[in-house]
Order: sequence, then structure tokens, then C-alpha cells
Amino acid sequence: MQHTDVWLQALEILQKEIKKADFLVWFQGTNIIDVADGVATIGLPSIFAKEWFHKRYLAQVKAALKAVDETIFEVEFKVDSALVPEGRGIDLRQLAKAEKRKTAARKLPNKPEIRTATGLVSRMLNPKYNLGNFVVGGDNRLAHAACSAVTRKPGEAYNPLFVYGGVGLGKTHLLQATGNEILRNYPHMTVVYGTAEKFTNEIVDAIRKSNTRSFHKRYRNADCLIIDDIQFFANKGKTQEEFFHTFNELYDGNKQIIISSDRPPSELAGIEDRLVSRFEMGMIVDVSMPDYETRLAILQSKCQEREVLIAPEVLEFISFNCHHNVRELEGVLMQAVARAKLQGTTPSVNDVQEILQKMGRNDQEAEHPENIFIARRPITSSDEVLEKIADYYSVTKSDLIGTRRSRDVLVPRQVAMYFLRQELDYSYERIGEVMGGRNHTTAMHAYNKIVDSLQTDKKVVRDVGALKREMGV
Ligand code: ADP
Ligand code: MG
Repeated sequence: MQHTDVWLQALEILQKEIKKADFLVWFQGTNIIDVADGVATIGLPSIFAKEWFHKRYLAQVKAALKAVDETIFEVEFKVDSALVPEGRGIDLRQLAKAEKRKTAARKLPNKPEIRTATGLVSRMLNPKYNLGNFVVGGDNRLAHAACSAVTRKPGEAYNPLFVYGGVGLGKTHLLQATGNEILRNYPHMTVVYGTAEKFTNEIVDAIRKSNTRSFHKRYRNADCLIIDDIQFFANKGKTQEEFFHTFNELYDGNKQIIISSDRPPSELAGIEDRLVSRFEMGMIVDVSMPDYETRLAILQSKCQEREVLIAPEVLEFISFNCHHNVRELEGVLMQAVARAKLQGTTPSVNDVQEILQKMGRNDQEAEHPENIFIARRPITSSDEVLEKIADYYSVTKSDLIGTRRSRDVLVPRQVAMYFLRQELDYSYERIGEVMGGRNHTTAMHAYNKIVDSLQTDKKVVRDVGALKREMGV
């Protein structure tokens, strides 16, 4: 038997034992280099893969090879750089396709159908989001657990459930998944999902047409009301009032309410206190940027969902370099896949690096290709910092760098200097220049002032925390 055939047969055995996503990610592009004196040498595309195989798959690979060729009693893993990017290793697509054909016929007829009492609301929920494909790791554990609890006992476990976190970190995914799962567990229930923006537009419409009845009916008949991105209600008095009444009615009827926001209730500017205090009555959980391992697992899961095969070191590279938000992580992956498809190849580290560079995400790495895994800063220019801070405090950029001395600009100005030092590592001289030609001692004083305030002043702690989240640092 040819060496390659031995490996192919072994792969068929392994495919049944190893989780599909892991199998696709780790075994794609592998090869058998040699079989001699009972030792099979398996070629792997990276050092990372080699370590992983040693840790995870040694016993299984050995057993599978032995089952195919009983003279094999030992396995060695070797990094074979020829396997990437051209991919001279085994292409698993054939195996994967055969598997897909087998499962397709079985799965489709049983596909769970989502029905609701009105038969209408299910269209608001995207069935692609479920709790099973939300990868749990590190800081997201609590949010996921709270959502799961709610799906088991809507209106009882945590009410309201308030999920907050920065852009692209999985809030919508969690909310929609929870809605989908509630409908699966309680098909007679009515789940209403909408963004705060949609809610607002519908009220405006209803008022314009003097027809608030159907609006009330839609929202107040829900067994579970999910409102996404509630921060959009800021400074919209009429909408807030309407939502307040909807909230109370549902809450009093023990209906489940789930809300998401880009910040915790206590930091919601422009939202009435009576609403904030209601948001604080239930369970508050946050989602944040997952750690490296979780990011890798998310990429693996997305590859599995889309049935694409990508070399492990490419996924590893994306995970290292995209730590801004999950949407970006996924975006880079999909761009790499699309690009490779056009070229008729599989995505390579080079492709990803180019994509990141185009996004302006990878400047440091590009200058130092030997340090491709350097962490990058999401915020890279003083302009961006000043803009964010001006936005946050509702002042202008020229207020920040100007000389006006009223209290409403003094603190934001000091916070700006603090961020330039803390997040961009600017020298005090440079901060002075950026801040409209101030003396470096002024910059130093401002920085120290904020460092002190962070020990004593709750408002500064809150503002700096919210700004950090906004800047993704
Ligand atoms: P947000 O609503 O917080 O802005 P989304 O829920 O839209 O973010 O998430 C952005 C993308 O990232 C979605 O495609 C979502 O499926 C994905 N995503 C975020 N977190 C996870 C996770 N933990 N596991 C799997 N996918 C995730
Ligand atoms: Mg969202």
C-alpha cells in the first residue's frame, strides 16, 4: 500500500472520532512523509500544529495508523514547510463532502421549525444565531449562562436580563439566540425582537398616524420582549415614556424582558432614571473581547458553519492580530476565504496580513515582519483619541485643545491628556504639542491628576472605563 493511502485510510478512522470542526482545522494539509522501521512520520504545516498534535492527537493517530497497517507502532510528527501555502498535503474536501452528503438527508426533515402564537414574530429572529454556536470562553461565560437560564424559565430566572458590551462582541447573537431557544422550548409563546431604533421609528409612525393601538398590541402582548441597543433611546423622551409603560406592563405580568446596550445601565447618558433603575432590577451581564484561545475556537466554529478549510496557523494568525471585536475577527476570516476562492487557493498568512494592512490594522507588524504577533492598539492616532473624548463629553475638539477654563472642558481635557499618555505612550512634550502647544508640565500635571482621580472620583472612573471600552483598549 502507498504511504498516502495509509494516511487517507487512517484519516477516515480519525474523522469519526474527532469533532468535525477540529478535524477540518487540524488535519487539513497534513501528509505522511515516510514509514520506516515501524515508525510513521506525519508532516504538519506548523510548529503550533506539531505541539497540538503531540498534546491532543498522538494516541489517536497512532491507533488509527496501527489499525490500517499493523507494522506501525510509533508515530513522529514533523513540521513540513512545503505543506503551506500551496498545500501539498491531503485535501480533506473529498472526505468532508462525502460526510456532508450522508448527513444532509438525515438532518433536513427534522429541522426545527420556529412557530409563534401569531406566526409573525419569528421572522424577526435570525435562525443562524443559537446558543450552541456562541462560543463560550473566559468573560462571556456568565452572559451565556444567564441567557441559557432565561431560555429554560422565561420571566422567572432573571428579569429583566441586561446584556452590555462594545460593538461586535456578540450581544445581538446572544439576544437572538435566546429568543430562538425560547420559541423552541415554548412554541406557544410570542417572542418579539426589535432594535431600539425600530421601536422608536414605530412609535413615531404610530403617533403620526394617530394609531398607537396596534403598536401597543404588538409589544404588550409579548411573552418575551427583546430590545437590542437600548442606548439608542438616549434623549428620546416620548420613546422612553412609551417603553417605560411597556416595560411595566410586561414586568408585572411576569413576562421576560431582555435588553442589550453598549454600556451598563449606570453609564447610560440621556436615559431617564426611572428606566435605568428598572434595568438594574434584574440581572446585568457583560460581554467583552474573548481571549486568544476563545477567538481561535470562534474561528474554528465559523469555519465549520461555513464548511471552509483553513490551515491552523492562518487561524492562529488571525486570532493573534484581531483582538478588537469578534465581528472584525469574522470579517477578516471571510475576506481571506473570499480572496483565496478567487485565486483558486486556500487562504494563507500572507493573504491575511494584506487584508489587515488594508484595514490599517497591522502597521506595526508590517514594518517588523519578524514580529508578526505583536499586539496592536485599536486606537492609533491622537486625532482618534480627541474625537472619541470630545464625542463622549459632548464638547468639540477645539474645546479640548483650546484654553477655555470652565469645568465642563477642564476634566475632558485632562482625560484627553491621560489617554494620550496611557494608551498612545506619548511623551509629555508631544502631548503638549498635540493639545494646542501646551507646556509639558501641564501635560504631566493633567496625567497625574487623572491617575489620582481614578483612586477617588467615581465619575472619572466611570468615564475613563466607558471611554476605554469605546476605544477598544
Ligand atoms: P454586537 O451585537 O455585540 O455588536 P454581534 O452579536 O452582531 O455583536 O456579533 C458580531 C459577530 O460576531 C456575529 O457574527 C456573531 O455571530 C459573532 N460572535 C460574537 N461573539 C461570538 C461568540 N462568542 N461565538 C461565536 N460567534 C460570536
Ligand atoms: Mg448588535
